[in-house]
Amino acid sequence: MKKISILGATGSIGKSTLDLIERSHEAFEVVALTASVNVEALADAARRTKAKLAVIADEGRLEQLRNALSGSGCEAAAGEAALIEAASQETDLVMAAIVGCAGLKPTMAAVEAGKTVALANKEALVTAGELMTAAAQRHGATLLPVDSEHNAIFQCLAGSNERDISRIILTASGGPFRTASAEAIRSATPAQAVAHPKWKMGAKISVDSATLMNKGLELIEAHYLFGLPSSQIDVLIHPQSIVHSLVEFLDGSVLAQLGSPDMRIPIAYALAWPERMETPAERLDLAAIARLEFEAPDLDRFPALRLAREALEAGGSAPTVLNSANEVAVVSFLEGRVQFTEIAALVEKELNANRRPPPSSIEEVFEIDSDVRQSVRDVIREHCS
Ligand code: NAD
Ligand code: MG
Repeated sequence: MKKISILGATGSIGKSTLDLIERSHEAFEVVALTASVNVEALADAARRTKAKLAVIADEGRLEQLRNALSGSGCEAAAGEAALIEAASQETDLVMAAIVGCAGLKPTMAAVEAGKTVALANKEALVTAGELMTAAAQRHGATLLPVDSEHNAIFQCLAGSNERDISRIILTASGGPFRTASAEAIRSATPAQAVAHPKWKMGAKISVDSATLMNKGLELIEAHYLFGLPSSQIDVLIHPQSIVHSLVEFLDGSVLAQLGSPDMRIPIAYALAWPERMETPAERLDLAAIARLEFEAPDLDRFPALRLAREALEAGGSAPTVLNSANEVAVVSFLEGRVQFTEIAALVEKELNANRRPPPSSIEEVFEIDSDVRQSVRDVIREHCS
Protein backbone atom coordinates (compact mmCIF):
# COMPACT_ATOMS: atom_id res chain seq x y z
CA MET A 1 0.00 0.00 0.00
CA LYS A 2 1.28 3.44 -0.92
CA LYS A 3 0.50 6.16 1.60
CA ILE A 4 -0.58 9.34 -0.14
CA SER A 5 -1.68 12.88 0.71
CA ILE A 6 -3.41 15.18 -1.78
CA LEU A 7 -3.00 18.95 -1.50
CA GLY A 8 -5.86 20.50 -3.45
CA ALA A 9 -8.06 17.40 -3.34
CA THR A 10 -11.23 19.18 -4.49
CA GLY A 11 -9.81 20.62 -7.73
CA SER A 12 -9.65 19.17 -11.20
CA ILE A 13 -6.32 17.36 -10.62
CA GLY A 14 -7.31 16.45 -7.05
CA LYS A 15 -10.55 14.83 -8.23
CA SER A 16 -8.82 12.89 -11.01
CA THR A 17 -6.27 11.67 -8.47
CA LEU A 18 -9.05 10.56 -6.12
CA ASP A 19 -10.81 8.82 -8.98
CA LEU A 20 -7.70 6.72 -9.72
CA ILE A 21 -7.06 5.98 -6.06
CA GLU A 22 -10.63 4.91 -5.48
CA ARG A 23 -10.49 2.58 -8.47
CA SER A 24 -7.31 1.00 -7.05
CA HIS A 25 -8.19 1.34 -3.38
CA GLU A 26 -6.25 -1.79 -2.45
CA ALA A 27 -3.02 -0.07 -3.56
CA PHE A 28 -3.38 3.26 -1.72
CA GLU A 29 -3.88 4.50 1.80
CA VAL A 30 -4.99 8.13 2.00
CA VAL A 31 -3.35 10.10 4.79
CA ALA A 32 -4.31 13.76 4.33
CA LEU A 33 -6.58 15.71 1.99
CA THR A 34 -6.75 19.51 1.72
CA ALA A 35 -8.99 22.11 0.11
CA SER A 36 -9.44 25.85 0.05
CA VAL A 37 -13.10 26.48 0.93
CA ASN A 38 -15.25 23.57 -0.23
CA VAL A 39 -15.98 21.80 3.07
CA GLU A 40 -18.60 19.51 1.66
CA ALA A 41 -16.44 18.11 -1.16
CA LEU A 42 -13.47 17.75 1.19
CA ALA A 43 -15.42 15.94 3.89
CA ASP A 44 -17.08 13.71 1.33
CA ALA A 45 -13.70 12.71 -0.18
CA ALA A 46 -12.23 12.18 3.30
CA ARG A 47 -15.08 9.85 4.26
CA ARG A 48 -14.93 7.90 1.01
CA THR A 49 -11.17 7.36 1.22
CA LYS A 50 -10.99 6.97 5.03
CA ALA A 51 -8.42 9.76 5.19
CA LYS A 52 -6.78 10.41 8.57
CA LEU A 53 -6.62 14.21 8.26
CA ALA A 54 -8.66 16.79 6.34
CA VAL A 55 -7.48 20.39 6.17
CA ILE A 56 -9.46 23.39 5.00
CA ALA A 57 -7.34 26.46 4.20
CA ASP A 58 -10.05 28.89 5.32
CA GLU A 59 -9.89 28.92 9.13
CA GLY A 60 -13.43 30.29 9.36
CA ARG A 61 -14.73 26.94 8.11
CA LEU A 62 -13.08 24.66 10.69
CA GLU A 63 -16.24 24.21 12.74
CA GLN A 64 -18.21 23.35 9.63
CA LEU A 65 -15.54 20.79 8.64
CA ARG A 66 -15.56 19.27 12.14
CA ASN A 67 -19.31 18.82 11.93
CA ALA A 68 -19.12 17.37 8.45
CA LEU A 69 -16.55 14.81 9.62
CA SER A 70 -18.09 13.91 12.95
CA GLY A 71 -18.06 10.19 13.60
CA SER A 72 -15.78 9.49 10.63
CA GLY A 73 -12.55 9.17 12.61
CA CYS A 74 -10.93 11.74 10.35
CA GLU A 75 -9.27 14.66 12.12
CA ALA A 76 -10.22 18.17 10.98
CA ALA A 77 -7.81 21.10 10.86
CA ALA A 78 -7.59 24.52 9.21
CA GLY A 79 -5.19 27.25 8.16
CA GLU A 80 -1.72 27.53 6.73
CA ALA A 81 0.13 25.66 9.48
CA ALA A 82 -2.28 22.75 9.09
CA LEU A 83 -1.74 22.71 5.30
CA ILE A 84 1.98 22.46 5.93
CA GLU A 85 1.38 19.71 8.45
CA ALA A 86 -0.71 17.83 5.88
CA ALA A 87 2.18 18.12 3.41
CA SER A 88 4.69 16.78 5.91
CA GLN A 89 2.76 13.75 7.23
CA GLU A 90 4.40 10.38 6.89
CA THR A 91 3.62 9.31 3.32
CA ASP A 92 5.18 7.73 0.26
CA LEU A 93 3.80 10.36 -2.08
CA VAL A 94 2.36 13.87 -1.91
CA MET A 95 0.21 15.11 -4.78
CA ALA A 96 0.79 18.88 -4.96
CA ALA A 97 -2.34 20.10 -6.77
CA ILE A 98 -3.15 23.46 -5.22
CA VAL A 99 -3.46 26.18 -7.85
CA GLY A 100 -1.08 29.14 -7.91
CA CYS A 101 1.41 30.61 -5.49
CA ALA A 102 -0.95 29.54 -2.68
CA GLY A 103 0.54 26.07 -3.07
CA LEU A 104 4.13 27.15 -2.59
CA LYS A 105 4.48 26.77 1.18
CA PRO A 106 2.80 23.36 1.44
CA THR A 107 4.65 22.08 -1.65
CA MET A 108 7.96 23.32 -0.23
CA ALA A 109 7.11 21.66 3.07
CA ALA A 110 6.69 18.34 1.26
CA VAL A 111 10.00 18.89 -0.56
CA GLU A 112 11.78 19.83 2.67
CA ALA A 113 10.41 16.69 4.30
CA GLY A 114 12.23 14.75 1.55
CA LYS A 115 9.04 13.39 0.01
CA THR A 116 8.33 12.06 -3.42
CA VAL A 117 6.20 14.92 -4.73
CA ALA A 118 3.87 14.53 -7.69
CA LEU A 119 3.96 18.11 -8.90
CA ALA A 120 0.92 19.57 -10.62
CA ASN A 121 1.25 22.99 -8.97
CA LYS A 122 3.51 24.46 -11.67
CA GLU A 123 3.21 28.02 -10.32
CA ALA A 124 5.09 26.97 -7.17
CA LEU A 125 8.02 25.75 -9.26
CA VAL A 126 7.93 28.75 -11.60
CA THR A 127 7.89 31.27 -8.78
CA ALA A 128 10.57 29.60 -6.65
CA GLY A 129 12.34 27.31 -9.11
CA GLU A 130 15.89 27.59 -7.88
CA LEU A 131 14.89 27.40 -4.23
CA MET A 132 12.68 24.38 -4.79
CA THR A 133 15.13 22.39 -6.90
CA ALA A 134 17.95 23.16 -4.46
CA ALA A 135 15.74 22.09 -1.53
CA ALA A 136 14.81 18.88 -3.36
CA GLN A 137 18.49 18.07 -3.75
CA ARG A 138 19.34 19.00 -0.20
CA HIS A 139 16.53 16.96 1.34
CA GLY A 140 16.57 14.05 -1.09
CA ALA A 141 13.06 14.81 -2.40
CA THR A 142 11.93 13.56 -5.82
CA LEU A 143 9.81 15.77 -8.07
CA LEU A 144 7.58 13.72 -10.38
CA PRO A 145 6.03 15.90 -13.09
CA VAL A 146 2.24 15.63 -13.38
CA ASP A 147 1.78 18.31 -16.01
CA SER A 148 1.05 16.22 -19.11
CA GLU A 149 3.91 17.70 -21.17
CA HIS A 150 6.53 17.28 -18.48
CA ASN A 151 5.22 13.87 -17.62
CA ALA A 152 5.57 12.95 -21.30
CA ILE A 153 9.17 14.19 -21.34
CA PHE A 154 9.89 12.35 -18.10
CA GLN A 155 8.57 9.16 -19.71
CA CYS A 156 10.63 9.74 -22.89
CA LEU A 157 13.77 10.33 -20.84
CA ALA A 158 13.52 7.11 -18.84
CA GLY A 159 16.78 5.23 -19.17
CA SER A 160 18.56 7.89 -21.23
CA ASN A 161 21.56 10.00 -20.49
CA GLU A 162 21.15 13.73 -19.86
CA ARG A 163 24.05 14.64 -22.11
CA ASP A 164 22.41 12.87 -25.05
CA ILE A 165 19.42 15.24 -25.11
CA SER A 166 19.60 17.92 -27.77
CA ARG A 167 16.22 19.56 -27.07
CA ILE A 168 12.79 19.02 -25.67
CA ILE A 169 9.65 20.05 -27.51
CA LEU A 170 6.61 21.01 -25.48
CA THR A 171 3.36 20.62 -27.34
CA ALA A 172 0.46 23.04 -26.82
CA SER A 173 -3.11 22.67 -27.99
CA GLY A 174 -3.17 26.37 -28.85
CA GLY A 175 -6.27 26.89 -26.68
CA PRO A 176 -9.72 28.13 -27.71
CA PHE A 177 -8.40 31.15 -29.67
CA ARG A 178 -5.81 29.36 -31.79
CA THR A 179 -7.48 30.38 -35.04
CA ALA A 180 -9.18 33.57 -33.77
CA SER A 181 -8.32 37.00 -35.18
CA ALA A 182 -6.47 39.53 -33.04
CA GLU A 183 -9.73 41.52 -32.93
CA ALA A 184 -11.78 38.55 -31.66
CA ILE A 185 -9.09 37.77 -29.07
CA ARG A 186 -9.22 41.33 -27.75
CA SER A 187 -12.92 41.05 -26.94
CA ALA A 188 -12.79 37.45 -25.64
CA THR A 189 -15.04 36.80 -22.64
CA PRO A 190 -14.20 34.67 -19.58
CA ALA A 191 -16.76 32.08 -20.72
CA GLN A 192 -15.03 31.77 -24.11
CA ALA A 193 -11.59 31.66 -22.52
CA VAL A 194 -12.36 28.80 -20.13
CA ALA A 195 -14.04 26.69 -22.82
CA HIS A 196 -10.93 24.68 -23.67
CA PRO A 197 -11.32 22.55 -26.81
CA LYS A 198 -9.47 19.48 -25.46
CA TRP A 199 -8.96 19.58 -21.70
CA LYS A 200 -11.38 20.12 -18.81
CA MET A 201 -9.42 21.98 -16.14
CA GLY A 202 -9.69 24.56 -13.37
CA ALA A 203 -10.54 28.15 -14.39
CA LYS A 204 -7.06 29.62 -13.85
CA ILE A 205 -5.16 27.14 -16.00
CA SER A 206 -7.90 27.32 -18.64
CA VAL A 207 -7.35 31.07 -19.01
CA ASP A 208 -3.59 30.46 -19.04
CA SER A 209 -4.10 27.97 -21.87
CA ALA A 210 -6.10 30.55 -23.80
CA THR A 211 -3.36 33.23 -23.49
CA LEU A 212 -0.60 30.58 -23.95
CA MET A 213 0.82 31.78 -20.63
CA ASN A 214 0.29 28.17 -19.56
CA LYS A 215 2.88 27.10 -22.13
CA GLY A 216 5.10 29.94 -20.96
CA LEU A 217 4.87 28.73 -17.35
CA GLU A 218 5.56 25.22 -18.65
CA LEU A 219 8.67 26.43 -20.45
CA ILE A 220 10.02 27.69 -17.12
CA GLU A 221 8.76 24.55 -15.37
CA ALA A 222 10.66 22.41 -17.93
CA HIS A 223 13.82 24.41 -17.36
CA TYR A 224 13.74 23.70 -13.63
CA LEU A 225 12.63 20.08 -13.91
CA PHE A 226 15.05 19.00 -16.63
CA GLY A 227 17.89 21.49 -16.18
CA LEU A 228 17.91 22.65 -19.82
CA PRO A 229 18.37 26.26 -20.97
CA SER A 230 15.70 28.17 -22.89
CA SER A 231 17.56 27.53 -26.17
CA GLN A 232 16.95 23.77 -25.80
CA ILE A 233 13.22 24.01 -25.05
CA ASP A 234 10.87 24.53 -28.00
CA VAL A 235 7.12 24.95 -28.17
CA LEU A 236 5.02 23.39 -30.90
CA ILE A 237 1.29 23.83 -31.41
CA HIS A 238 -0.53 20.51 -31.76
CA PRO A 239 -4.28 21.12 -31.65
CA GLN A 240 -5.31 17.49 -31.15
CA SER A 241 -3.45 17.06 -27.83
CA ILE A 242 -2.46 13.48 -28.65
CA VAL A 243 1.32 13.92 -28.65
CA HIS A 244 1.98 15.28 -25.17
CA SER A 245 5.60 16.31 -25.79
CA LEU A 246 8.81 15.11 -27.44
CA VAL A 247 12.50 14.74 -26.77
CA GLU A 248 15.12 15.03 -29.50
CA PHE A 249 18.46 13.30 -28.92
CA LEU A 250 21.94 14.05 -30.29
CA ASP A 251 21.63 11.44 -33.01
CA GLY A 252 18.45 13.03 -34.40
CA SER A 253 16.10 10.45 -32.85
CA VAL A 254 12.89 11.93 -31.49
CA LEU A 255 10.83 10.16 -28.83
CA ALA A 256 7.28 11.22 -28.07
CA GLN A 257 4.63 10.14 -25.58
CA LEU A 258 1.11 9.81 -26.95
CA GLY A 259 -2.23 9.24 -25.29
CA SER A 260 -5.79 10.48 -25.20
CA PRO A 261 -6.12 13.92 -23.55
CA ASP A 262 -7.00 12.64 -20.08
CA MET A 263 -4.99 13.88 -17.07
CA ARG A 264 -5.51 10.53 -15.40
CA ILE A 265 -2.73 9.11 -17.61
CA PRO A 266 0.08 11.40 -16.36
CA ILE A 267 -1.38 11.36 -12.83
CA ALA A 268 -1.35 7.54 -12.86
CA TYR A 269 2.25 7.52 -14.04
CA ALA A 270 3.21 9.65 -11.04
CA LEU A 271 1.05 7.62 -8.62
CA ALA A 272 2.44 4.26 -9.66
CA TRP A 273 6.01 5.35 -10.49
CA PRO A 274 8.35 3.57 -10.97
CA GLU A 275 5.68 1.10 -12.04
CA ARG A 276 2.47 1.65 -14.01
CA MET A 277 -1.17 1.21 -13.12
CA GLU A 278 -4.45 0.76 -15.00
CA THR A 279 -6.53 3.82 -15.90
CA PRO A 280 -9.96 4.09 -17.50
CA ALA A 281 -8.60 6.58 -20.05
CA GLU A 282 -9.84 6.10 -23.58
CA ARG A 283 -7.36 4.17 -25.74
CA LEU A 284 -5.94 5.86 -28.81
CA ASP A 285 -7.37 4.83 -32.14
CA LEU A 286 -4.72 6.21 -34.46
CA ALA A 287 -6.44 4.91 -37.58
CA ALA A 288 -9.51 6.95 -36.64
CA ILE A 289 -7.39 9.99 -35.79
CA ALA A 290 -5.59 9.46 -39.12
CA ARG A 291 -3.52 12.64 -39.03
CA LEU A 292 -1.52 14.50 -36.43
CA GLU A 293 -1.24 18.26 -36.98
CA PHE A 294 1.48 20.65 -35.88
CA GLU A 295 2.17 24.36 -36.37
CA ALA A 296 4.48 27.03 -34.97
CA PRO A 297 3.09 29.26 -32.19
CA ASP A 298 2.12 32.83 -33.13
CA LEU A 299 3.91 35.09 -30.65
CA ASP A 300 2.16 38.21 -31.97
CA ARG A 301 -1.36 37.09 -31.13
CA PHE A 302 -0.11 35.28 -28.02
CA PRO A 303 2.56 37.53 -26.46
CA ALA A 304 2.39 35.75 -23.08
CA LEU A 305 4.55 32.94 -24.45
CA ARG A 306 7.20 35.44 -25.57
CA LEU A 307 7.09 37.15 -22.15
CA ALA A 308 7.63 33.88 -20.31
CA ARG A 309 10.61 33.03 -22.47
CA GLU A 310 12.04 36.50 -21.84
CA ALA A 311 11.49 36.04 -18.09
CA LEU A 312 13.26 32.68 -18.16
CA GLU A 313 16.19 34.16 -20.07
CA ALA A 314 16.35 37.29 -17.87
CA GLY A 315 16.46 35.15 -14.71
CA GLY A 316 16.66 36.95 -11.38
CA SER A 317 13.20 37.64 -10.00
CA ALA A 318 11.59 37.71 -13.46
CA PRO A 319 9.86 34.28 -13.29
CA THR A 320 8.42 35.20 -9.87
CA VAL A 321 7.20 38.57 -11.18
CA LEU A 322 5.74 36.95 -14.29
CA ASN A 323 3.80 34.42 -12.25
CA SER A 324 2.44 36.84 -9.64
CA ALA A 325 1.40 39.45 -12.20
CA ASN A 326 -0.30 36.77 -14.26
CA GLU A 327 -2.20 35.36 -11.26
CA VAL A 328 -3.68 38.75 -10.42
CA ALA A 329 -4.41 39.60 -14.05
CA VAL A 330 -6.18 36.26 -14.62
CA VAL A 331 -8.39 36.65 -11.55
CA SER A 332 -9.23 40.20 -12.64
CA PHE A 333 -10.07 38.98 -16.13
CA LEU A 334 -12.33 36.25 -14.70
CA GLU A 335 -14.05 38.95 -12.61
CA GLY A 336 -14.63 41.03 -15.73
CA ARG A 337 -12.34 43.87 -14.68
CA VAL A 338 -9.69 43.56 -17.39
CA GLN A 339 -9.83 42.58 -21.05
CA PHE A 340 -8.28 39.35 -22.26
CA THR A 341 -5.35 41.05 -24.02
CA GLU A 342 -4.67 43.18 -20.96
CA ILE A 343 -3.49 40.06 -19.09
CA ALA A 344 -0.23 39.91 -21.07
CA ALA A 345 0.06 43.71 -21.12
CA LEU A 346 -0.13 43.83 -17.30
CA VAL A 347 2.48 41.11 -17.01
CA GLU A 348 4.79 42.88 -19.44
CA LYS A 349 4.50 46.15 -17.53
CA GLU A 350 5.48 44.43 -14.26
CA LEU A 351 8.38 42.60 -15.86
CA ASN A 352 9.75 45.90 -17.13
CA ALA A 353 9.25 47.66 -13.80
CA ASN A 354 10.66 44.94 -11.52
CA ARG A 355 14.21 43.79 -11.99
CA ARG A 356 15.70 42.22 -8.89
CA PRO A 357 18.14 39.45 -8.09
CA PRO A 358 16.67 35.97 -7.66
CA PRO A 359 14.84 35.52 -4.35
CA SER A 360 17.14 33.86 -1.82
CA SER A 361 14.37 32.57 0.44
CA ILE A 362 10.68 31.72 0.30
CA GLU A 363 10.02 34.83 2.39
CA GLU A 364 11.62 36.89 -0.39
CA VAL A 365 9.46 35.15 -2.98
CA PHE A 366 6.40 36.24 -1.00
CA GLU A 367 7.75 39.79 -0.66
CA ILE A 368 8.12 40.04 -4.44
CA ASP A 369 4.75 38.36 -4.89
CA SER A 370 3.01 40.80 -2.60
CA ASP A 371 4.69 43.88 -4.17
CA VAL A 372 3.77 42.73 -7.67
CA ARG A 373 0.19 41.92 -6.69
CA GLN A 374 -0.21 45.38 -5.19
CA SER A 375 1.32 47.05 -8.22
CA VAL A 376 -0.91 45.16 -10.69
CA ARG A 377 -4.01 45.96 -8.64
CA ASP A 378 -3.03 49.66 -8.67
CA VAL A 379 -2.59 49.64 -12.44
CA ILE A 380 -5.94 47.90 -12.90
CA ARG A 381 -7.70 50.39 -10.63
CA GLU A 382 -6.22 53.33 -12.53
CA HIS A 383 -6.23 52.17 -16.13
CA CYS A 384 -8.43 49.16 -16.80
CA SER A 385 -12.10 49.05 -17.71
P1 NAD B 1 -8.56 23.84 -9.52
O1 NAD B 1 -8.87 25.28 -9.44
O2 NAD B 1 -9.54 22.92 -10.15
O3 NAD B 1 -8.25 23.27 -8.05
C1 NAD B 1 -7.37 23.92 -7.20
C2 NAD B 1 -7.28 23.23 -5.85
O4 NAD B 1 -6.47 24.07 -5.00
C3 NAD B 1 -8.61 23.05 -5.13
O5 NAD B 1 -8.60 21.87 -4.39
C4 NAD B 1 -8.65 24.26 -4.18
O6 NAD B 1 -9.43 24.00 -3.03
C5 NAD B 1 -7.19 24.42 -3.82
N1 NAD B 1 -6.86 25.82 -3.49
C6 NAD B 1 -7.13 26.91 -4.24
N2 NAD B 1 -6.72 28.03 -3.61
C7 NAD B 1 -6.16 27.63 -2.44
C8 NAD B 1 -5.57 28.31 -1.34
N3 NAD B 1 -5.48 29.64 -1.33
N4 NAD B 1 -5.12 27.57 -0.31
C9 NAD B 1 -5.21 26.24 -0.31
N5 NAD B 1 -5.79 25.52 -1.31
C10 NAD B 1 -6.25 26.23 -2.37
O7 NAD B 1 -7.15 23.72 -10.26
P2 NAD B 1 -6.58 22.53 -11.15
O8 NAD B 1 -6.98 22.74 -12.55
O9 NAD B 1 -6.82 21.21 -10.48
O10 NAD B 1 -5.02 22.85 -11.11
C11 NAD B 1 -4.22 22.59 -9.98
C12 NAD B 1 -2.76 22.76 -10.38
O11 NAD B 1 -2.43 21.78 -11.35
C13 NAD B 1 -2.47 24.11 -11.03
O12 NAD B 1 -1.21 24.54 -10.65
C14 NAD B 1 -2.49 23.79 -12.52
O13 NAD B 1 -1.67 24.66 -13.27
C15 NAD B 1 -1.93 22.38 -12.52
N6 NAD B 1 -2.36 21.58 -13.68
C16 NAD B 1 -3.67 21.33 -13.87
C17 NAD B 1 -4.07 20.58 -14.97
C18 NAD B 1 -5.53 20.25 -15.19
O14 NAD B 1 -5.84 19.49 -16.10
N7 NAD B 1 -6.46 20.75 -14.40
C19 NAD B 1 -3.12 20.12 -15.87
C20 NAD B 1 -1.78 20.40 -15.63
C21 NAD B 1 -1.40 21.13 -14.52
MG1 MG C 1 0.33 21.10 -19.29
